[in-house]
Amino acid sequence: MLAVARGLRTRCPRCGRGSLYGRGLRLRGRCADCGLELGRYAHDTWAMIYFSTAALTGAVVIALIVARPSNLLLGRFVLGAVALAVIVASLPSRKGAAIAVNWLVAARGGEDEEAVPSSERDC
Ligand SMILES: [Zn+2]
Repeated sequence: MLAVARGLRTRCPRCGRGSLYGRGLRLRGRCADCGLELGRYAHDTWAMIYFSTAALTGAVVIALIVARPSNLLLGRFVLGAVALAVIVASLPSRKGAAIAVNWLVAARGGEDEEAVPSSERDC
C-alpha cells in the first residue's frame, strides 16, 4: 500500500521522491530520482480512472439527494461546480495510484522483481 500512497501523492511508486508529472501535468518518462520508467506503467489506467470517477459521481448523486438547499437552482449549480472541480483536481492523484498499482502488479509478477522494496514484499 505504500506504493499506492506514493502514487496518490503523485510521487514515484518505487522511491517516493521523484514527481510523476512535469510541467502541465505531463507524465514524466522516467523518475528523476531513481530512473524508474514511469511511462511503462501508465498503460491501462483507464479502469481505475473510470471506476474512481464513477464513485465520485455516486457521492455527488447522494449529496444531491441528501442536500436541501434553500435555493434549489443555486444549490445544484454549486454542487455541480464543486463535483466537477473535485473530479478534475483529483485526476492526477488517481492516475498516480493507477500507475503504482500497475507497477506493483508487474513487479510481483516477476516482470520487474528488483523494483519492489522489501517493505512491499511482505504485504
Ligand atoms: Zn523513483
